[in-house]
Amino acid sequence: MIYLCATPIGNLEDITLRVLRILKEVDLVAAEDTRQAKKLLTHYDIRVPVISLHQHNEAQRTEEILAWAAEGKDVAVVSDAGMPGISDPGGRLTRAAAAAGADITVLPGANAALTGLVLSGLPCETFYFGGFLPRRSSERKKALEAVRSLQASLVYYEAPHRLLKTLTDMTAVLGDRQAAVARELTKWYEETLRGPLTGLLDHFGQTPPRGELVIVVEGADLSEEPMAANTDIRRAVLDEMDAGASKKEAIKNVARRSGLSKNEVYQRVLDLPTQL
Ligand code: SAM
Repeated sequence: MIYLCATPIGNLEDITLRVLRILKEVDLVAAEDTRQAKKLLTHYDIRVPVISLHQHNEAQRTEEILAWAAEGKDVAVVSDAGMPGISDPGGRLTRAAAAAGADITVLPGANAALTGLVLSGLPCETFYFGGFLPRRSSERKKALEAVRSLQASLVYYEAPHRLLKTLTDMTAVLGDRQAAVARELTKWYEETLRGPLTGLLDHFGQTPPRGELVIVVEGADLSEEPMAANTDIRRAVLDEMDAGASKKEAIKNVARRSGLSKNEVYQRVLDLPTQL
């Protein structure tokens, strides 16, 4: 049997009784980082052989683990933190096990995305989990454009040194929506900041973010009224640019909201610079 086991995302108490029992009973633990896993196992006084299973050897290990499982061995799989398979190794093994008809199950537990979403205060009924956004701004904006009209809270993982750039691109593409940044969840310095994207940008511009973090942004506004016919189009473009959008993005957003073509909007703001 193969057990995908959730481990803590910071607080060592966030491990289930079932995961602890299975870790004690299995023949082998396959871990994303063997040193990290040994720390966890030592903390709970569990002695079991540990091997590595990371993104560079997942293909080969998958074959080995399936072979061991077929011999009747029990293998537990853990990632560095949280749920295996969620922005972590585990997905490939699950697919291969399913295809081979091998016994595989998940022992649920801590997960940063869900913890951050619930703590964000934004709607949890419907959400979209985007994992890590691309590192290059142009690709990141494309990924955000693809979800701009989703009526679902948007949840992302991000590294602290990329937070400001990501919040800037989110403001430009999604507009100044309500959002939250949840840092160091379950740890001593846990902190959640909530507010409009521009407010979060201001805050983290002054206080550089540290530690692990989750970003949650509200979904597209169901009630976003189409712009009234007498809306000052030029003013609307300026407002978007004030909120951080480039002229091109602002024109695109205002065209969508007003029902005018991009060219019609463009003609009214010919004299504006490309960025405020
Ligand atoms: N498998 C993990 C899970 O289930 O949450 C996620 C692994 S992913 C490689 C690591 C990312 O998750 C971090 O860069 C951060 O964005 C987020 N994360 C992990 N632990 C966190 C924590 N304690 N607080 C906030 N975010 C966390």
